[in-house]
Amino acid sequence: MNSGLVWIKSLVEWLFPRYCAVCGARLRADERAVCLHCLASMPLTGYHLWKENPVERLFWGKFPLERATAWMVYQRGTPYAKIIHQFKYGGRKTLAVDMGRMMAADLQKDGFFEGVDFIVPVPLHPRRLLMRGYNQSEMLAKGVSEITQIPILNGVVERIRYTETQTKKSGAERAENMKHTFRVADVNNVIGKHLLLVDDVVTTSSTLTACGDALQAAEGIRLSVLALASAE
Ligand SMILES: [Zn+2]
Repeated sequence: MNSGLVWIKSLVEWLFPRYCAVCGARLRADERAVCLHCLASMPLTGYHLWKENPVERLFWGKFPLERATAWMVYQRGTPYAKIIHQFKYGGRKTLAVDMGRMMAADLQKDGFFEGVDFIVPVPLHPRRLLMRGYNQSEMLAKGVSEITQIPILNGVVERIRYTETQTKKSGAERAENMKHTFRVADVNNVIGKHLLLVDDVVTTSSTLTACGDALQAAEGIRLSVLALASAE
C-alpha cells in the first residue's frame, strides 16, 4: 500500500473507530469485525473434518445430507456469544457478512463447498424480517457467497408460518411446532441441485429439518447444512 493510502486509512479509522465484536477493543485498520487476539482463540469446532460429526448426527433419520457443519461453538454468556447477539438482536448486519466471509475462507481450504450449486439462507417469516430489518442468515450467506462465488438462491423456500421463540421447548416440541413452516416456492429451480442451507445457530435442527423437508419436494435434490455456530 502506498503511504497516501495508509494515511487515508488511518484517518478513516480515527474518524470512524470500529470495535472488536468479542472483546470490544478498538480494531486496527487491518482487522475486521474481530481483533486478531480474539480470532486466535475463536472456539472453532473443526466439525467439517470429522466423519459423522455432531451436527450431521442431528439430521440422522430425517433426510439424507451430503455434509453438515457448524463453524464455531455457541455458549451462552461467553464473550464469543456476543457475536451472534450483536447481529441477531443488535442490528449489526455487516457483522454477519464478515462472519460469513471468515467462516467460508476457513472451510473452503478443506473443500467444504465442493459441488454446491446454490446457497440457500433459511428464510425468516416476513413479520420477523420486518421487525429485524434483515435476515441474519442471508447476511451470513452473502459473506459465504462472496468468498466461494457460489450464487445465493433467495425465495426458493418461503416461511409461511410464524413461530414464537422456541428456547423453552423440548426437541420434540420444537419439531412438532416447526411442521408446515416452510414451503418451496419454485420446485423446478432446484431439481437435481445441491443446495447448501445456511443458518446462524443450530440447536436441535428443528428449523433446518423443516426447511430441508419442504425441499424434498424437488426430485434429485441434495442438501448440505452450514451454521455459523452450534449450541452446546
Ligand atoms: Zn477482541
